[in-house]
Amino acid sequence: MTKKIAVIGSGFAGLSAASCLAQAGEEVHLFEKNEQLGGRSRQFKADGFTFDMGPSWYWMPDVFERYFKRFGYTSKDFYDLKLLDPSFSMIFEGNEEMKVPANFEELCQMFENEEKGSAVKLRKFMIEAAYKYEKGVNDLVYKPGLSLLEFADLDLIKNTFRLQVFSSFSKHVRQYFKSPKLIALMEFPVLFLGAMPKDTPALYSLMNYAGLKLGTWYPMGGFHKIVEGMTRIAEEQGVHIYKNEPVTKLAVHQKRVSRVIANGHSMDIDAVVGSADYNHVEQHLLEEQYRNYTPKYWAKKTFAPSSLLFYLGVNKKVPKLQHHTLFFDNNLDLHAQEIYKNKKWPTKPLFYVCCPSKTDDSVAPEGQENLFLLMPIAAGLKDEESIREKYYQVMMERLESYVGENVRNHIVYKKSYCVSNFIEDYNAYQGNAYGLANTLMQTANLKPSIKSKKLKNLYFAGQLTVPGPGVPPSLISGQVVAKELLKNL
Ligand SMILES: Cc1cc2nc3c(=O)[nH]c(=O)nc-3n(C[C@H](O)[C@H](O)[C@H](O)COP(=O)(O)OP(=O)(O)OC[C@H]3O[C@@H](n4cnc5c(N)ncnc54)[C@H](O)[C@@H]3O)c2cc1C
Repeated sequence: MTKKIAVIGSGFAGLSAASCLAQAGEEVHLFEKNEQLGGRSRQFKADGFTFDMGPSWYWMPDVFERYFKRFGYTSKDFYDLKLLDPSFSMIFEGNEEMKVPANFEELCQMFENEEKGSAVKLRKFMIEAAYKYEKGVNDLVYKPGLSLLEFADLDLIKNTFRLQVFSSFSKHVRQYFKSPKLIALMEFPVLFLGAMPKDTPALYSLMNYAGLKLGTWYPMGGFHKIVEGMTRIAEEQGVHIYKNEPVTKLAVHQKRVSRVIANGHSMDIDAVVGSADYNHVEQHLLEEQYRNYTPKYWAKKTFAPSSLLFYLGVNKKVPKLQHHTLFFDNNLDLHAQEIYKNKKWPTKPLFYVCCPSKTDDSVAPEGQENLFLLMPIAAGLKDEESIREKYYQVMMERLESYVGENVRNHIVYKKSYCVSNFIEDYNAYQGNAYGLANTLMQTANLKPSIKSKKLKNLYFAGQLTVPGPGVPPSLISGQVVAKELLKNL
């Protein structure tokens, strides 16, 4: 008999869960608080510019293909993927730049030029990283994280040593490389996705394999094209989608969620997937006795960073910028400490500049540039206008010093986005941008559970549960939760 399932939130996790459940023949109702679908990957248009609001690095193309294939599609049916070359640029002290080539042989040469003997080490590093990617992305991340027995068939115990689940990423990288620049290049993905490299398991060198071996891609038209494709799939599968419909309460009857209340309307349901921020779903939509965790539990968790963002339209071209440019011209450890340990506005921040108009003419008027600045900061900071402006000037000064020309006088569109916007728009706990950090103590079964311990028909998906933050993991999360729910219906 068909069951009626409510999905809360239309990010990658919610859209993915909803489509998989509908594909299995269930009646699915998807509730989204905002006007637009896509969650952190929304898009807006202003003064001729098209801005992706969140993700901009398209890594792990195989994960997207695997998702689309479930529904008889490939990514090509929704967008053209372009391989970026160079993949990205890193700027160091004194505006010294390192362009990271897409081609692996050229990358080896670049390593060798920077540190003698490092090309051979990079090849070795990548053999291990490839193994972790193969095991991790094809196997581990599709586990629901409910029982240790899930790993028995993976002969994980035998391979724990090689997968390096219990050793530090930071140490691992330093066993291979000495050059601070190469170390920064290897460490940036884990830092930006949510933890101090020394607290991150070396398992996550699979991210280096994803970024440096599988390529950095860009979906023409912007990241929102992925959301549009996923929305089309959801509609074709028969998902009922409600926009501007924030869920305000989950009513409980006999240890089951019996009704979803959204915007004053009430709907009887058989099961629920909460794919909005986990903390919001259980701490705000459920009565206290039905929650998995206490406020104290959440307060102790290590959250991935929030971000200060600027969406900028520039009325000229800025030739020196690449599609992705990372400003690593200050001390990485200090900034990481100020994000994760003694949380405060950074003394000397690192930041990232995205310029998609380098690749895609559709995102800016002709002869102009679309810029997106991102500075990771601790979740929970106060972000009044004056502090945003202070860091705007800090970032722009460094950007101008690198590109060697004035940009600020050519800004024709400017909008900032920070902690309070994440809270207001997404009900994000402490205004986090990327969910829960991937630390050793917050990996796999140690993450908040995808299943309610109190209510038989309530499940959780998204970047605060398994497998973790990022677009590919969120996409996977929805599929994992749908499978688990269907098993137990
Ligand atoms: C600035 C930024 C840059 C990023 N860059 C990258 C990148 O380059 N590459 C990458 O892979 N990842 C990146 N990420 C991370 C990635 O975007 C996220 O991990 C992913 O989008 C999270 O998807 P989700 O479905 O878990 O959550 P969300 O996208 O947050 O979706 C949750 C949805 O629930 C809705 N909601 C909340 N409360 C309610 C309610 N009560 N009722 C109904 N709906 C509700 C929200 O409005 C939202 O639409 C970035 C994130 C940010 C913010």
